[in-house]
Amino acid sequence: MHPRRIAVLGGGPGGLYAARLLKLARPACDVVVHEQDDPDTTFGFGVGLAAGTQRRLEAADPDTLRDIVTAGSRHDMTMRVGGRTARVRSDRLVGVARTELLAILQRHAEKAGVRLDFGSRRTAEALDADVVVAADGVGSATREAGDFGGSVEVGRGLFLWCGAEFTLPDAVFAPVTTPHGTFVTHAYPYSGGRSTFLVETDERTWRAAVFDATTDATPPDATDTASLRYLEGVFAAELGGRPLIGNRTRWQRFRTVRCARWSAGRVVLLGDAAHTAHFSIGSGTKLAMEDAIALAEALAEEDGAAAAFARYEAVRRPAVERLQELARRSRLWWESFPARTGLPVEQLMVAYMTRAGNVPLDRFAVTAPDVVAAALGQFAGQDPVPPPPDVVGWVLDRPLRGGGLDLPSRVVPPGDPALTVVDDVVDDPWSAEGDAVVAAARRHRAAGSAGFRVVGPADRAATLTRLDLAERLRGEVGGTVVVEGPAALRADLAAGLLSGRADLVTWTEGAA
Ligand SMILES: Cc1cc2nc3c(=O)[nH]c(=O)nc-3n(C[C@H](O)[C@H](O)[C@H](O)COP(=O)(O)OP(=O)(O)OC[C@H]3O[C@@H](n4cnc5c(N)ncnc54)[C@H](O)[C@@H]3O)c2cc1C
Repeated sequence: MHPRRIAVLGGGPGGLYAARLLKLARPACDVVVHEQDDPDTTFGFGVGLAAGTQRRLEAADPDTLRDIVTAGSRHDMTMRVGGRTARVRSDRLVGVARTELLAILQRHAEKAGVRLDFGSRRTAEALDADVVVAADGVGSATREAGDFGGSVEVGRGLFLWCGAEFTLPDAVFAPVTTPHGTFVTHAYPYSGGRSTFLVETDERTWRAAVFDATTDATPPDATDTASLRYLEGVFAAELGGRPLIGNRTRWQRFRTVRCARWSAGRVVLLGDAAHTAHFSIGSGTKLAMEDAIALAEALAEEDGAAAAFARYEAVRRPAVERLQELARRSRLWWESFPARTGLPVEQLMVAYMTRAGNVPLDRFAVTAPDVVAAALGQFAGQDPVPPPPDVVGWVLDRPLRGGGLDLPSRVVPPGDPALTVVDDVVDDPWSAEGDAVVAAARRHRAAGSAGFRVVGPADRAATLTRLDLAERLRGEVGGTVVVEGPAALRADLAAGLLSGRADLVTWTEGAA
């Protein structure tokens, strides 16, 4: 039986978009959104929507997408280190104010016939409906109270989400090293003459700058103005001397939410309530809105809520988990970012793009030939090299001379006895387990080891993690670092070489 009354808990992007699509699919159904805040109260600043997301929104609801794109502003992506800038053109990356996005989604929901109920906090249990869509955000009380098998993993790094009242010409990633440690901003323009400034740092820097104390002194729902004033000094060059603005802005650690089940009885979770993915891949709003598309389709096509919820989860879970894994790698990369600020900006941009294994090197060479040309030159110790068609082969074929080595290419046979074998399987090279591997490696170096051969399982996830561990060994212990992997993953291994994660690679024997 099809539901006749649907209640949506939460008027964020996921809830509002789901409500509109559900109402469009079943006009006879009564759809209500319950949002605790007023229509124009929101947290945060701008959100970015990439080309792939826009294509999916276009297919589901072209009217809404048109208004979002009109309200947004397009920008390129840049990285700025040590006075040098690397730029990647992006034709369809749009930044839009969260307030504006919500206003558009509210308008379109009402136009479709959805009722909007603002200003009261509700519980899923008390809502009178056949189906309750719980889109109540990362802190979802529905998830906490229900039988969803929810878990929350808290990140090591700290971030602060603030803004500025001027339009940056492009999105920019810029690290700044202070006497307290390194802060990095991910900043991007959005509509209405404003820009988002997201600032990240590590725990040691955060404590050294006494932000643990300013955080304690900031009441809940207030802004940590002491941190904003300090960061205005740190990022004075990016801000052009202008102030940072806050909106319930305080230091936080990212919370990755996962759930064993996304539905229980008549209640189904959607968006941040069901899952989150680290903000550095800019996907929270995308995931919530793509969930809404899949849920509306499932409820329109299946007979009965239970079948629809099962279909929704079967469709969405693989895509969500894939993104969560990319986001996990991206989070680890940003949490360890200060270790890389010595790389030239173009090589750092390649490292950034390939950090999670999502952007193949040959594709990036087509998107940003100038950046890759400079990075190839930096890697090979020569002038910029326009990326050849087989850029992966080119990287692997570079000779390595110096430091007692004279090798014709970056691929070496296995089994050099001068190298210590590192075969520890660690999921997170920057964890306490990673610290133990580094400590053992230091002892081997002190005892005369020439370096390390990092070996392990031939699957892709393990190979990418080995590259991360190798990068840490290279930076903190030194010596020659060789990473083993299957020849089938030569593109990942070449990206690792170009990004400074390894000196050499060797093929896994017997792997395809
Ligand atoms: C620092 C940072 C940067 C980000 N940058 C980006 C980005 O660039 N691009 C991007 O796509 N995403 C970004 N995100 C993520 C994005 O903000 C969220 O993922 C997205 O808003 C999720 O949408 P949602 O509808 O699931 O939940 P939310 O937007 O959190 O909405 C939940 C709503 O439910 C309401 N609510 C909660 N409980 C109740 C209740 N009991 N009764 C009534 N109402 C209730 C809340 O008031 C809220 O309005 C970022 C997040 C962070 C933290």
